[in-house]
Amino acid sequence: MSSGIVLRIERSSIHDGDGLRTVIFLKGCPLSCAWCSTPEGQALEITEIETKVYGYEMTADELLDEVVKDEIFFYHSGGGITFSGGEPLLQADFVADVMQRARSLGIDTAMESSMSLPYSEIDKILPHLDVLFADLKHIDPERHKFYTGIDNKLILDNISRVAQVNLPIKLIVRIPLVPGINDDEKTIRGMGKFLRTLKKLERVEILPYHKLGISTYDKMGLEYKLRETKIPSSEHIENAKDILRGYISSI
Ligand code: SF4
Repeated sequence: MSSGIVLRIERSSIHDGDGLRTVIFLKGCPLSCAWCSTPEGQALEITEIETKVYGYEMTADELLDEVVKDEIFFYHSGGGITFSGGEPLLQADFVADVMQRARSLGIDTAMESSMSLPYSEIDKILPHLDVLFADLKHIDPERHKFYTGIDNKLILDNISRVAQVNLPIKLIVRIPLVPGINDDEKTIRGMGKFLRTLKKLERVEILPYHKLGISTYDKMGLEYKLRETKIPSSEHIENAKDILRGYISSI
């Protein structure tokens, strides 16, 4: 039986898929984005900071028992479960196991991913997945590496491969819009050119930069590099969407 390291479970989310979602945040991420709002989720192992413990182990059975408690809400809202992180692909066997069993109970499955692991890990999950939220953080490989720790080649390749699979998966690309980092016209046009190559693309969502999580950096004694970065205005967000509409219609 598989088991995984869970950071936390949040119920009744309306932002991570259709209907009401139970979101399972897993531990571990190969990236270290400058704007990350869950730095406590980046280490795969269970960590302790001051008196607070981040992460706990669960078997697939235990996690399934937890999520089926919300089955009635899924049924009435058209919702389901969403794996997020951290990076769910780091625990792909566990995610695939839980998703397969959830699906057999008629529960919708979704995953939010940075797409930063080898395609073989994605491939384990795809047969059990209804909706994939794939992050597109930057189109320039050097700047991607500067702000997240790795370049974007594997990520772009992975998104392109998923966009071609012959499975009924909805592909939604999410762009975290961070002023001064990926909101300039050249970068957004570069993203638009990439997005229009994706045949399976359902839509694009812009996730405006926010400052949630700064207190966790302080608690962990980590430097938060974007303290001076402003939250994008609605005009700013609309401007990015307008540029993207020149390449794709579903935004
Ligand atoms: S991919 Fe997500 S969880 Fe990982 S460091 Fe970036 S923002 Fe944080």
